[in-house]
Amino acid sequence: MIRMHAATASDPAGDAAELLNRAGSVATADTALREPPPAARESVPGLEPAGVPVESWGVSASGLDVRTHLLHETLFALGNGYIGQRGTPDEGFSGPRAASTDGTYLNGLFERQPIRYPENAFGLARLNEFMVNVPNGKRVELWVDGERFDPLTGTLLLHERSLDFREGVLRRTVEWISPGGRQVRITSERLVCLQRKHVFALRYRATPVNGDARLTFVSMLDPRQANLAAGDDPRVGSHVSEPPLAVIGEQQDGTGSRLLQRTCQSGITLSSAVEHDWSELGEAEITGETLSGSCLVHRAEVLARMGQPTGFVKYGAYHSSRDHAEGDLAARAGEDLARARLHGFDHLCEEQAAMLAHFWRDADVEIGGDPALQQGLRFNLFHLLQSVGRDGQTNVAAKGVTGEGYEGHYFWDTEIYILPFFLATQPEIARRLLEFRCRLLPKARERARQMAHPRGALYPWRTIAGEECSAYFPAGTAQVHINADIAHALRQYVQVTGDVDFLIKQGAEMLLETARIWMDLGHHDLRRGGAFCIFEVTGPDEYTAMVDNNFYTNAMAQQHLRYAAEVVDLLWHSYGEDYVRIASAIDLQPQEPLAWRRAADAMYLPVDPLLGVHPQDDSLLHKPAWPFPRPTSHKNPLLLNYHPLVIYRHQVCKQADVVLALLLRPELCSLDQKLRDFHFYESITVHDSSLSASVFSILASEIGEHAKAMDYFMQTARMDLDDLHGNTGHGVHMAAMAGTWLGVVHGFGGLRWIDGVPHLRPWLPHGWTHYAFRLRRGDAQAEVRVGRDEVVYRLVGDLPMTLVHDDEPITLLPGTPPEQRALPCRRPLLHKPSSSTSTAS
Ligand code: BGC
Repeated sequence: MIRMHAATASDPAGDAAELLNRAGSVATADTALREPPPAARESVPGLEPAGVPVESWGVSASGLDVRTHLLHETLFALGNGYIGQRGTPDEGFSGPRAASTDGTYLNGLFERQPIRYPENAFGLARLNEFMVNVPNGKRVELWVDGERFDPLTGTLLLHERSLDFREGVLRRTVEWISPGGRQVRITSERLVCLQRKHVFALRYRATPVNGDARLTFVSMLDPRQANLAAGDDPRVGSHVSEPPLAVIGEQQDGTGSRLLQRTCQSGITLSSAVEHDWSELGEAEITGETLSGSCLVHRAEVLARMGQPTGFVKYGAYHSSRDHAEGDLAARAGEDLARARLHGFDHLCEEQAAMLAHFWRDADVEIGGDPALQQGLRFNLFHLLQSVGRDGQTNVAAKGVTGEGYEGHYFWDTEIYILPFFLATQPEIARRLLEFRCRLLPKARERARQMAHPRGALYPWRTIAGEECSAYFPAGTAQVHINADIAHALRQYVQVTGDVDFLIKQGAEMLLETARIWMDLGHHDLRRGGAFCIFEVTGPDEYTAMVDNNFYTNAMAQQHLRYAAEVVDLLWHSYGEDYVRIASAIDLQPQEPLAWRRAADAMYLPVDPLLGVHPQDDSLLHKPAWPFPRPTSHKNPLLLNYHPLVIYRHQVCKQADVVLALLLRPELCSLDQKLRDFHFYESITVHDSSLSASVFSILASEIGEHAKAMDYFMQTARMDLDDLHGNTGHGVHMAAMAGTWLGVVHGFGGLRWIDGVPHLRPWLPHGWTHYAFRLRRGDAQAEVRVGRDEVVYRLVGDLPMTLVHDDEPITLLPGTPPEQRALPCRRPLLHKPSSSTSTAS
């Protein structure tokens, strides 16, 4: 029997029946398995992080502890850049609501809702986009002789979970004695297919241990998911007032269930489908039913023999109208599921391992001598792959697809932290991330008009589909440096890959449009000798807001303006047709590039005559020191304890700002100047943002503060594994994860891309025997292996590559032995900050 909601005139799902009308038959009824939809969740006071055992290629955990459950759901999360499934047990979790967020997310699948301001103002962000918790397709329950398996009841003899980064399969083994005395062994294996964007699969088996038993496997496609409710922590949860997804169609047959839903405001249609392979069960009775809330259920009942495992495989697929025409969704799901089923579960596992072998070959960072750091790094890189959108229309959310922190929004985190990792290891993914921004150019233009810019484009500080979603503009919209961050990433991508075609066809128009904004945000200030000054912005340091001449912003805008002018020259001289196309599309005036160059050359980047440091902005150095106790742990950041105004009026920084500018613009000043800046800003930075420590680590490496470089690195490498910020339960910290790769490669390895050429100056951290990583430049690739006394540069593949070791150019040629060089002399530690000045650029 096919069960379908009637489509009415007001129901936009008028064609839902058509979309789903590919039915088999199964009965529907509400039964005893009904459960209330999860309600709003609060935070869980007193949750303790539990370290996971150190191992080099995976994470694992024994037991099931309510206090660490939320954290483990994140640590065992699976994803493929599109689908994200939290590591919740297959059966769900019956413990305290606050200790679990059983989420499934689709990168870029969002709902929209109005942002309501008690006090309104013109131009405030109007609509929030948030990532939706979509139907749970992984849910499986087991009943043993009428008793439901629940690890929190009965006796749990064994509960093991493991996730090997080379396999990408979450494995679980459980041994349990029911309250009634039935003993059962359960194994489950789950994967989100890295090679099949829309597909996940799981295999679930049970074995009666102390006698034959009647087993009932209950497999669900459960849409009764709620998004996390916003609590006091601004970094967590959405203010979701209405359920974001409305069911517009549902259908079951003997092996599968399908749901069709639509987001109420953003109008995205979502198809969720599961398909079962019951063949392993033999003689089983299979029935289907629909619980309240359109939860589609299959029950498979079987008499299982003692000692003999039996179970089934479940394949699932999500497709949305963001990817395909609405009318095609059901067919796409059907095809993907049929193909997965035909190939079979073992084949999907092999495919997964092959994809990961490919990834690790390019991306692995090997560390000798510190297994815990090794694990941290690989965990981080694995999650970067799991969360990065690879289709050009999605990006990397601040928490990837592992949790709802920051509502699934994309930030500058991508361009400044994450993209460099992909650029050096999988440049095609870096290109996809830039394509995403190019696609959103029309929205960025719209936003610029709202913000009174007659021309140009202004990118949103946080977004999913291009809308500015930052409801708190001092620490959001005001971070206009996002425009320059995107330009920086584009420049680096083009220089490193040589992909000028992408620049000309897609990037250039965005680059020029975004450059224009600086000419409105600043001007040549006659009271400052005509220096170009930029007003009323917030830099990366969110504890200092709405300032004039934020150093980071000015430095990045300078680079942006220069690059935009250079690209106009390039177009004019070498790509005449494209010049005409772009210039007419954006009405480029001949005098604009000249004005950009003039502004860049006159950019205001002073050094303070008293302290000899770059002031973070016009006001920070005048402010009083922070008078209250500083946070002793990242788990208790200032932002949760003081009104923003209290924070803003003091000399206290949340995260790297000037220090980050010196990393991204290494040519800006002398090493001596960097040393002074580093020490000064270190003394006033509390690192309440997880984006901070890696940047301090890298600059510490550059100035020869090796112990500090290591200390800061330690704060990032295992940040999520050890839950150092206390909020990993709500999702991993993607930028910090990428920051660890930066810490090794740009920090210890000293990598700086200068005009697309890798310049390295490696050193070996104390206690390590060696480390090694690979870099791509264009189509060429090299391995860098840093040992106790020497660095070995080895060509991978047969295309030559030039790099620079400690200022000495080396060309690696095919067929020649690797090049060996001594480690650069330990840089003598320069004097501590003095009050001498140095030239501004
Ligand atoms: C940081 C921002 C960052 C955001 C998302 C905030 O805490 O201050 O720089 O973009 O988190 O990761």
